[in-house]
Amino acid sequence: MAVTMICPNLGCRKTIVAPDGARGRLMRCAHCSQVFMVPIRDGSSEPATADETNNQKDKSGSKKH
Ligand SMILES: [Zn+2]
Repeated sequence: MAVTMICPNLGCRKTIVAPDGARGRLMRCAHCSQVFMVPIRDGSSEPATADETNNQKDKSGSKKH
């Protein structure tokens, strides 16, 4: 699962997507060349993209109110 984060450069703040293997490693923002470390754990407070998230919930199906 890719890591999505916001560029720490306050003048940039672009969304950056890093591969899972980049966790805990240094990475450079393609927009402003700011170097930063990819967090090992996700903050999970940001809205995830529809691609990955919805696959995990298979259970809540047939019961309607
Ligand atoms: Zn940046």
